[in-house]
Amino acid sequence: MRHVIAFAEHRKGQTRKVTYELATQAHELAQKLGGTAHAIVLGEGAGALAESLTKYPLDVVHVAEDPDVDAYLLDPTIDYLEGAARAIGSSIVLVPNTMYGRDVASRLAARLGAGLNADVTGFAIDGERVACIAPKLGGVTITTCAFEDCEYGVATVRPNAFAAQPGGAGARLETLAKPDAKPYRMRIVNEVEEASSELGLEEAPVVVSGGRGLGGAEPFTTLLKPLADALGGAIGASRAAADAGWVPYSLQIGQTGKTVSPKLYIAVGISGAIQHKVGMRSAGTIVAINKDGTAPISEFSDLLVVGDAFQIVPALTKLINDSKA
Ligand SMILES: Cc1cc2nc3c(=O)[nH]c(=O)nc-3n(C[C@H](O)[C@H](O)[C@H](O)COP(=O)(O)OP(=O)(O)OC[C@H]3O[C@@H](n4cnc5c(N)ncnc54)[C@H](O)[C@@H]3O)c2cc1C
Repeated sequence: MRHVIAFAEHRKGQTRKVTYELATQAHELAQKLGGTAHAIVLGEGAGALAESLTKYPLDVVHVAEDPDVDAYLLDPTIDYLEGAARAIGSSIVLVPNTMYGRDVASRLAARLGAGLNADVTGFAIDGERVACIAPKLGGVTITTCAFEDCEYGVATVRPNAFAAQPGGAGARLETLAKPDAKPYRMRIVNEVEEASSELGLEEAPVVVSGGRGLGGAEPFTTLLKPLADALGGAIGASRAAADAGWVPYSLQIGQTGKTVSPKLYIAVGISGAIQHKVGMRSAGTIVAINKDGTAPISEFSDLLVVGDAFQIVPALTKLINDSKA
């Protein structure tokens, strides 16, 4: 029997969709492994977030609203996670594959003597053997790596790789006891919020993406941004556009970029290569605007608009803005 633990990354109770994706995945894996599903929420605002997690199919949501978690860099967080994992027993710990999550996962794996799999997009279970599927070498290969001879496994899971599905009988809330006081050595003395963050693209309900067909950097601001703004969405890009330096790599969607799962994905001047498709195929509705009616994207888009993006996109933006007015 193996248990599964989802670590909830948040800031003062504000979280990301990936937290609920991990909670759902914890349940699905725990069922296959014959164990129980847990979530751990720490720090300021943990109580409210823990409440929202009880609506997901977990057995227990462990919570500690301890100010030390926010006052110090990671040490208290790792102490809580290690203590909880050891109390729960043999388990797989799921951590979001975000900048913060990767930091947490590596330290936790070292503490637990656990195997660590990064940027996981799928799991393969065989009895109690858990293997993680993840792109490696810049996406050139997809590897399946099993945790061997370790009581604990830690996996950083790519946002939007799994669906979030509320349900279950209602998880039990349990307060975690404070771990033995240790000298925490790194106190956070200042925090500066970045104007833009990776939150936009991965959480946006609408993504308007541009590719090589846009021919340069400027149309991303003059063409795509107004459409994205009109729809309350964010801008993404194909690798061809990122490689050309038209947009930063943080906007790249696909096998070696981000995975997005918006309600609406609009691909403008993107051919729909398989490496792009794997990063956006779970979008609710896929609309493609392309000069070429036979481009590969025509095979998996819900609606293909055949024509010149430079005529269609401004007309569409105007239509949306007019209808709003
Ligand atoms: C290991 C590996 C990893 C990769 N990872 C990724 C990844 O993460 N993400 C990714 O996107 N790609 C990735 N790629 C690259 C991928 O194979 C494609 O080369 C890339 O997605 C193509 O980008 P594109 O669709 O913008 O360009 P193109 O394939 O050149 O397509 C441009 C499209 O624009 C259309 N077009 C041209 N002008 C107009 C116009 N005026 N109006 C409307 N349509 C127009 C054309 O008809 C065409 O369909 C990877 C490749 C490899 C080998």
